[in-house]
Amino acid sequence: MSTDPKQVVILGGGFAGVSTARYLEKLLRAEQASITLINRENYWVYQPMLPEVISGSIGLTNVVSPIRRLCPRTNLIMREVEDIDLKKQILTVSPGFRPRQLQLRYDHLVIALGNITDFHGMPGMIENAMPFRTLADAMVLRNHVIHVLEEADVEEDPKLRRQLLTFVVGGGGFSGVEVMAELNDFVRSVKRNYLRLRNEPHRCVVVQAGDRILPEMSETLALFAQRILRKRGVEIILNDRLKAATSERAILQSGTEIPCKTLISTVPSALPPVVQKLDCPKEGGKLLVNTGLELKDYEGNVWALGDCASIKTVAGTKVPPTAQHAIREATTAAINIAAAVRGGKRAEFGFEGLGTLGSLGHGAAVAQIFGVRVSGLLAWFLWRCIYLMKMPGLNRKVRIVTDWLLHLLFPPELAQTKVAFESGIRNQHFEPGDIIFQQGDLGDTMYVIEDGECEVFREQKGEQELLATLGPREYFGEMALLSDRTRNATIRAHTAMDILIIPKADFNKLRQSVPAFGHVFTELATRRAVAGSPQSFAEPGTLGGYPIPIPTPESELGPMPGSPPATRAKR
Ligand SMILES: Cc1cc2nc3c(=O)[nH]c(=O)nc-3n(C[C@H](O)[C@H](O)[C@H](O)COP(=O)(O)OP(=O)(O)OC[C@H]3O[C@@H](n4cnc5c(N)ncnc54)[C@H](O)[C@@H]3O)c2cc1C
Repeated sequence: MSTDPKQVVILGGGFAGVSTARYLEKLLRAEQASITLINRENYWVYQPMLPEVISGSIGLTNVVSPIRRLCPRTNLIMREVEDIDLKKQILTVSPGFRPRQLQLRYDHLVIALGNITDFHGMPGMIENAMPFRTLADAMVLRNHVIHVLEEADVEEDPKLRRQLLTFVVGGGGFSGVEVMAELNDFVRSVKRNYLRLRNEPHRCVVVQAGDRILPEMSETLALFAQRILRKRGVEIILNDRLKAATSERAILQSGTEIPCKTLISTVPSALPPVVQKLDCPKEGGKLLVNTGLELKDYEGNVWALGDCASIKTVAGTKVPPTAQHAIREATTAAINIAAAVRGGKRAEFGFEGLGTLGSLGHGAAVAQIFGVRVSGLLAWFLWRCIYLMKMPGLNRKVRIVTDWLLHLLFPPELAQTKVAFESGIRNQHFEPGDIIFQQGDLGDTMYVIEDGECEVFREQKGEQELLATLGPREYFGEMALLSDRTRNATIRAHTAMDILIIPKADFNKLRQSVPAFGHVFTELATRRAVAGSPQSFAEPGTLGGYPIPIPTPESELGPMPGSPPATRAKR
C-alpha cells in the first residue's frame, strides 16, 4: 500500500474552503495528506462586513485576510479553476505569467466555489448592473458612488442630476438590504461636503420580488426593517423585479422604469461556470450532496459545501446559503475527509442555525437569535459584537474596532481610490428610444451594432432629417475619432440593441497595431470626404472585397467589413 501523503485539493477560498483547510490542518499530519487550496485571490473575504466598505466605516483591506496566514500548512494556488474532471480526478487551472495551464491530480476534492450573480437573460444587466460579492465589487461601487456625486455637483441639467442621485438595488435579501443601508448612510452624510448637493434630495430604491424584504427573517422583524429603511428615506418596491437595464435606467418587470446611473443587483445567483458544466446530479441548480456532504455518485472522493451545494441536515431541513452554515459544513467535510484518509468516525451535518442578523446601517439592525427577536440599537450592537468575534485573528479584530471608533468620531472617508481608468472595448445595451449620442457631442467612441436597429438623424435649421436606419454588423461613430470633430448626427435606438463600444484609445491602438484595421477606416474617411451627396449613403461601395456604403462626407456611418447590405431609409 502506498504511504505517500494523499492529495487533498480544496477549490474556493471563501468561508467553506478556508474553514475546511484550517480544520484539516488540525486533523491530518503532513505525512498523511498534502492540502492544496485553489482560489482566484490570495485572500479570504469576510462578506458580512463587506457592505461597510461602501461607507468606509471599515478600511478596504480590513475586511479580508490573507489565506496563507489563515492556513499556514496549506499550499495556496492563486489561480482560476478552469475545469474539473471528476472521472479522471484531474483539475485544470488557468495559466499564470507563462501561457500554460496547470494540471493537478487529486485523491480527495472539496468543491467550495460559492455562487455568482447571474444576469443571463436580463438584457443590459451585464453592462449596467453591478454585482456585490467581492472586494473588487465593493471597491468599484464605492468609487462609482463618489464619482456620481462629483458629477451631480457640477451637472447643470436637473434631469441628469436627479438620475445621478438615484441609487437602485435589486434584491431585498440580507445582502441587498445591507448594501442599500450603507449606501444611503454614506450618501446622506457626505452630501454636506458638496456645495450644490446639500439641499438636493437623493433617491434610494430597493426592488424586491416578494411581498416583504428579508425573507430570511420573521415577518415582524422584516416589517421593522422596512419601517426603519423607509424612515431613512429608502423607497421599497415590493412584488416586482429587475428585468433589464440601460446606461440610463433600470427597467422592472411591471414596466416601471427608474432613471438612474447606479444599479446594484444581488440577485439572482447561479453556480460559477466551472461548476455549472459538471456532469453530476444537481438540485435547484446546486450540487447535490448527502448528509456527509459527499457529492452524489462520487461518495468518499468528492465533497461539496457552501453556497454551491444543495444540502439538507440529518433532520431534513434545507440548509440556507449563509456563512454560519458554511463554517459548520466545513467541520463535517473535514472530519469525513480525515476519515477517508486515515480511517475513523464519520460525521453527518446536523447544524440547524443559531439565528439571523442583519444590519440596517448606522445604529440599527434586526436579529433573531435562539428564537429571541431583537431590533434597533441593541441588535446593531449584537451584530457588531458577534461578527467581530467571528473574524479570525486578533490583528484584524483590532483594525476593525479602530475603524469603527474612528468612524464614530470623524466623517466618512470621501477620497476615491481610483486604480485604473474605466476604458476598454465593451458591450452596451440600449432600449428603443435611447439616444446613443447626440449631434454636437464630443466623439470619444465608435460603435458596432451586434443586434437591433438604430436611426440616424441630422438636425438642420430646427428640422430633423432621418438619414438612415442601421442594422447588425454596421458601425457608426468612427468619423469623429478620425477627425477630432464633434458628432454630426444623432443616433437613436429603434429597437432593443446590443452594441460593441470601442473607445478612442482602443480604436487608435488597433489602428496602429493592426494596419489593415486602420486602412479600412482611413480609406473610408477619404472616400467620404470626396463622396459628397446624401444619396451616396444609399450606395454600398467595396473596400478590400467587402461591401462598404459611401456615406455623406461628414457621416458617422458605415458597415463593418463583411456585413450584409444595410437597411436604408430616407425621409
Ligand atoms: C454582501 C454579502 C453579505 C452577506 N452577509 C451575510 C451575513 O451577514 N451572515 C451570513 O451568515 N452570511 C452572509 N452572507 C452570505 C455568506 O457570505 C455566504 O453564504 C458565504 O460566503 C458562502 O461561503 P462559500 O465558501 O460557499 O462561498 P464564497 O465565500 O463566495 O467563496 C467562494 C470562493 O471561490 C472563489 N472562486 C469561485 N470560482 C472560482 C474559480 N473558478 N477559480 C478560483 N476561485 C474561484 C471565489 O473567488 C471565492 O473566494 C453575505 C453575502 C454577501 C455577498
